[in-house]
Amino acid sequence: MNTPQDAPFYLPQGGEIELFEKAYSHGLPVLIKGPTGCGKTRFVQHMAHRLERPLFTVACHDDLTASDLVGRHLIGGDGAFWQDGPLTRAVREGGLCYLDEVVEARKDTTVVLHPLADDRRILPIDRTGEQLEAADGFMLVVSYNPGYQNALKGMKPSTRQRFVGVSLSYPVPQLETRIVEKEGGVSPQLARRIVDVGVALRRLEQHDLEEAASTRLLIYTARLMASGVDPMRACQACLVEPLTDDEETLRALTQVIDIHF
Ligand code: ADP
Repeated sequence: MNTPQDAPFYLPQGGEIELFEKAYSHGLPVLIKGPTGCGKTRFVQHMAHRLERPLFTVACHDDLTASDLVGRHLIGGDGAFWQDGPLTRAVREGGLCYLDEVVEARKDTTVVLHPLADDRRILPIDRTGEQLEAADGFMLVVSYNPGYQNALKGMKPSTRQRFVGVSLSYPVPQLETRIVEKEGGVSPQLARRIVDVGVALRRLEQHDLEEAASTRLLIYTARLMASGVDPMRACQACLVEPLTDDEETLRALTQVIDIHF
């Protein structure tokens, strides 16, 4: 049986596990906000395990259609048959459906979520004429990165106000050090140095970069170092190159790393 102990490793930032559990127990959908690579997906994986529910994850993009979520008729050897999409499976099986970067999906796609995200908890499937009632345990979870948001892409107010909001950010240095140590396989001392670089690089963010050095990238840096890559090289490869192509910004980031390694 699943136990919270063997759930995917997740260090809470403060109160989000309890909030998620309460939302789940009331059948309420959850909206997780936070920058890329700060732990949103890991949090949802952890919660699905803790709540002993199957997890259906969909990475949203602007070509995603309602059929990709709900399902479609396919043609097989014996003719046409219906295949449930991930949302429908979660509704039938009482699982968690996690829509990652939901603002990337077209607005007409996210409209199918409305009757699932309020008291009705139903999924009408036009193509089959079914009106599915969500099984106990079904939970809708969506995430997005507010930093990417622009006026056109923000979630419709009528959609977002159906959700309980959980806000995550990069973990505080003490926590992030433990995460980098565990996930990156380095000593606590080295993890702390890598986190210090991350913190210093994030201070540059407002000036030059759209995206900051995420927890994910700090973990990659640690993994490369743990496998023998020169620290400077590892930082360059994981914390500089992926974040910018601009010569001047490359130089500024490299200077910050020089100070630490
Ligand atoms: P997001 O979904 O926000 O883009 P992820 O959940 O994929 O980010 O996080 C990236 C990686 O960072 C995870 O694979 C995990 O290794 C690590 N991580 C981030 N936050 C935590 C945390 N609080 N506890 C444990 N690991 C974390």
